[in-house]
Amino acid sequence: MGKEERPIRVTRSSMPPYEEYAQMIKGLWDSHWLTNMGDFHQRLEQELKDYLHVDNLALFVNGHLALEMAIQAFDLKGEVITTPFTFASTTHAIVRNGLTPVFCDIRPDDYTLDPEKLEALITEKTCAIVPVHVYGNICQVERIEEIAKKHGLKVIYDAAHAFGETVHGKGVASFGDASMFSFHATKVYNTIEGGAVAYRDKAMAHQINGLKNFGIMDEETVALVGGNGKMNEFQAAMGLCNLKYVDREIGKRKLVYERYRERLETVEGIHFCPDDPAVVRNYAYMPVVFDGYRKDREQIFAELSAEEIYPRKYFYPCVNEYQCYREQFHPEDTPVAGRISRKVLTLPMYADLSLETVDEICDIILR
Ligand SMILES: *Cc1c(COP(=O)(O)O)cnc(C)c1O
Repeated sequence: MGKEERPIRVTRSSMPPYEEYAQMIKGLWDSHWLTNMGDFHQRLEQELKDYLHVDNLALFVNGHLALEMAIQAFDLKGEVITTPFTFASTTHAIVRNGLTPVFCDIRPDDYTLDPEKLEALITEKTCAIVPVHVYGNICQVERIEEIAKKHGLKVIYDAAHAFGETVHGKGVASFGDASMFSFHATKVYNTIEGGAVAYRDKAMAHQINGLKNFGIMDEETVALVGGNGKMNEFQAAMGLCNLKYVDREIGKRKLVYERYRERLETVEGIHFCPDDPAVVRNYAYMPVVFDGYRKDREQIFAELSAEEIYPRKYFYPCVNEYQCYREQFHPEDTPVAGRISRKVLTLPMYADLSLETVDEICDIILR
């Protein structure tokens, strides 16, 4: 087999066979129904409820608006405890709702929000917790639930990385009051751009579906100050096609993951997240922490880049170090997140990445 074409990027979107997608969207030229909860939208919503083992789900045009509107739906005020070790979207969704993020540090092994540090941050202003299943590592959901219950707080998960994962056979979105999934092109499962909110209380349907359509309830009633978060039919059609292949794609990712682990995990100073046997994983990302290895993260990044292989410093910097939030937070209060963000590299990970290329990447790291 020849060398995989360069450049090798950190990810590569999964796509269905072209003919399948073309066939599916053909009918849109007859119906002229392109968006606003059309047939594909309804079918995809149903199929995803089944796939994700949830009763209540609303599709969105992207994951970010899904999260922003999920938060808005709970009509919150005050402070929201969240993690600085995430993508910009999580914190921005909180701030854009007029809420104040309070950053909780992360666990040193799986990088999710550390529940042991959570309670000390709760004040009379705290209204919710927004944890992130970062890299598909499932948060300490039971501990978080216990604390949230005790203090009467909502829990809204950013599950952008956790599509299709289960814990003890339960869908990841069965935890908390709501969970957001992202179906962006770079994610395990994509609808080009897209997202969804799964929610516990059926009565929230009114709020969540209303918000994504300007708060319009019927011909003459606008009941909420909503926005436009609707997924269109081209996205939903892509979603229906991709859903048929997602298990196979995850199976291929697993082989890539296992190869990386096999090659690197016994090396001193190279660290992987622990594998929780209760969790069925989706292998969304391949985070590796270089701590105590003879080369640091920056050197490995440079050496791979020189070979046209582009890992990501994901997540660096931490959100509480962003320019737009400068002077507002104290990054020194979340030292574990700060340390991990300076040592982590997410290596190329996608279904069609060849094991030969994984070997090449490992050879460069180890040479
Ligand atoms: C991708 C992502 C989002 C945003 O989703 P989009 O679909 O890109 O809008 C939010 N949070 C996390 C952690 C993500 O990785």
